[in-house]
Order: sequence, then C-alpha cells, then structure tokens
Amino acid sequence: MKTLFSKIIDRELNANIIYEDESVIVIKDIHPKAPIHWLIIPKIPIPTFQDLQKEHFGYLLAMTEVIQKLAKEHSLEKGYRLVVNNGPDAGQSVFHLHIHLLAQRAHNHDF
Ligand code: AMP
Repeated sequence: MKTLFSKIIDRELNANIIYEDESVIVIKDIHPKAPIHWLIIPKIPIPTFQDLQKEHFGYLLAMTEVIQKLAKEHSLEKGYRLVVNNGPDAGQSVFHLHIHLLAQRAHNHDF
C-alpha cells in the first residue's frame, strides 16, 4: 500500500510542490498551522523517525540541506521551527517520515 506522500511523489495525487530533487520533495501542508507550513519528505517511505537506520542517513542529510537552502532563499534564517511527530501517540497521521517546517509567526509555539 503506497503512502499518501508516495502517491504525491509519483504524481498520482496533486500537491503544491515547493521543491523537488532526486531524494527529497517539499510540499505545502494542506492545513497550514502558520503562514509558512511546508513538509520535507524523503523519496523513500520510511514510516516513522523511530524507523530510521544508518543506511537512511543520506536522506536525512539531503533533507537538512534542502531546509537550509529553502530557508536562505525565503529569508527565514532568523527563525523557523521544525517538527517531527513520531508515532500515533504524538499525533502522526501520515506514516511516511516528514519534517514540518513552520515560519513567520513570532515566538508562538502553538503551531
Ligand atoms: P503528521 O500529522 O505529522 O503525520 O502530518 C501530516 C500532515 O500532512 C498534516 O499536517 C496534514 O495537514 C498534511 N496533509 C495531509 N494530506 C495532505 C495533502 N494531500 N497535501 C498536503 N499535506 C497534507
């Protein structure tokens, strides 16, 4: 069973794509909790953060580089928040690893 995000990567579902390369896709969250709310998604369906293994670290590095590059391009270096919900008890709803990037709401961690 393909994950929702794998369907977006394979263009079976539409999404608002901010950035894409061979290992990462970044889309706008469909229910934004801040003026900027993006999802940084590896192009491999690792279900949760807890499932990460050594062999996946190339993807983590690629996600980090993409976040830093987008932050520069969108002038977000002074502040953005990264969130990973790990597992159902943390409210994870899509079981394909992703990092939420939230920005442009000052000093408010309600999102
Ligand atoms: P999480 O709850 O951490 O698993 O995050 C999943 C996120 O995916 C939520 O913030 C949803 O709003 C978002 N989401 C669900 N479906 C879509 C979609 N089709 N396109 C973009 N974002 C989505």
